Amino acid sequence: MSLDGTYDPGNIFAKILRGEMPSVRVFEDEHVLAFMDVFPQSKGHVLVIPKHSTARNFLEETPENIGPLMLGVQRVAKAVRAALSPDGLMISQFNGAVSGQTVYHLHFHIIPRWEAVALGRHGEGMADTEELKALAAQISAQIA
Ligand code: 5GP
Repeated sequence: MSLDGTYDPGNIFAKILRGEMPSVRVFEDEHVLAFMDVFPQSKGHVLVIPKHSTARNFLEETPENIGPLMLGVQRVAKAVRAALSPDGLMISQFNGAVSGQTVYHLHFHIIPRWEAVALGRHGEGMADTEELKALAAQISAQIA
């Protein structure tokens, strides 16, 4: 998949939004949904997606959606920090396959980092659902 293309309403995140696929939800408001990444690159890896969007990537998103989306990313990132006390936080977003994008509904990664803990590989190693639920509860309790 390149930077150009047509939004596929059958993509996995669209299915999660519609409740057709399960996810471990952390937070949602009118504009965004945050849920645990099932192949986390670190403990507490959360994805934040716009709810009312057919943007495949950041470049395609509407000006109206960008503001609420970024506010949601910051709100969830602060909650991840408060819940898990990481030494750092990586916030990433990929556009096009060559950059590492695998799901074509716009999303931001929030990846907490700890000193001396290596970053896991992108999209590898499925997490235990009960562990994800426990982390999601910890993070969601810190949403301000
Ligand atoms: P991308 O590579 O497109 O930036 O990120 C897609 C992310 O979605 C990856 O980190 C991958 O682990 C995650 N992912 C892929 N399929 C699923 C799924 O079915 N559920 C959840 N929660 N995450 C997924």
